[in-house]
Amino acid sequence: MSVLKRHFDNRNDLIAYVKELAPWAEGDASKILGGQRECKKRLTALDAIKYGKTRNYGNGSVSMLSPYISHGVITLNEVRNHVVKDSNDQKSIETFIRELGWRDFWSRFAENNKCFLWNDVEDYKTGYASDDYQEEVPEDILVGDTGIACIDAFIGDLVNTGYVHNHARMYLASYIVHFRQVKWQAGARWFLSHLLDGDVASNNFSWQWIASTFSNKPYFFNLENVDRYFNGIVDTTPSRNRVLDASYPTLHNRLFPNLELQNG
Ligand SMILES: Cc1cc2nc3c(=O)[nH]c(=O)nc-3n(C[C@H](O)[C@H](O)[C@H](O)COP(=O)(O)OP(=O)(O)OC[C@H]3O[C@@H](n4cnc5c(N)ncnc54)[C@H](O)[C@@H]3O)c2cc1C
Repeated sequence: MSVLKRHFDNRNDLIAYVKELAPWAEGDASKILGGQRECKKRLTALDAIKYGKTRNYGNGSVSMLSPYISHGVITLNEVRNHVVKDSNDQKSIETFIRELGWRDFWSRFAENNKCFLWNDVEDYKTGYASDDYQEEVPEDILVGDTGIACIDAFIGDLVNTGYVHNHARMYLASYIVHFRQVKWQAGARWFLSHLLDGDVASNNFSWQWIASTFSNKPYFFNLENVDRYFNGIVDTTPSRNRVLDASYPTLHNRLFPNLELQNG
């Protein structure tokens, strides 16, 4: 059995070695750096108070620690202890600690409910049955050519960097399941093949939450919402995002015609 090389003079040599081992891997290496030094930098830069106020915005103070957590460079406890030690007001860091808690919750739930990792926890609450959804992610989504500017930009993040902001993950997952009627499992599989922080529990249960198979209603969004949180970060011009440019009641009635109609 051959032993994998572990020491390299520089990052380019490492990338060349990985390409040699995996010639089928397409595209360039992500610009996001791995390793303990980079992880420490992100931990030091983390502002948990600002995080609480801005986390939903595309340019908010998110930690970008997930790739390091997922690869075991740092534990959830270490992140938590760092934040708690730096704070003299526990209330102001509550939002950040709660998000760490979600990761812990998904992982514990998965440990005790392995059967639900790839199966619906409950039925869809969309007026459709699981069989009504497509098995595969359509090609235009895979290549980021849906014709919806903001969605294509988020797909670009996923495919080119391996990191997507949480709110953008929600938009993408919702677009795939509800606007395109694709099974959450197909979308979840696709995300896992690109995400640097790919974690089957956090990923799949988040997909199920969006789909409504692990929540009491489907999550959907409109262009106004994307514009509110990602204005200036992605193109939110109405003419380039037509499918999303509608009120919530209109979209609700279009996406879920079998449910009770909503007035708006
Ligand atoms: C459809 C979908 C798929 C997802 N897939 C993954 C995945 O494969 N791996 C993954 O680690 N997270 C996943 N998440 C959760 C979340 O989007 C990421 O953890 C977060 O965006 C990572 O960026 P960050 O480190 O800057 O997070 P921050 O917002 O800075 O949060 C700090 C840490 O808290 C944890 N965290 C934050 N939000 C969540 C959340 N909603 N659920 C679980 N943990 C959270 C993460 O460990 C994160 O690193 C997914 C969410 C959605 C909606």
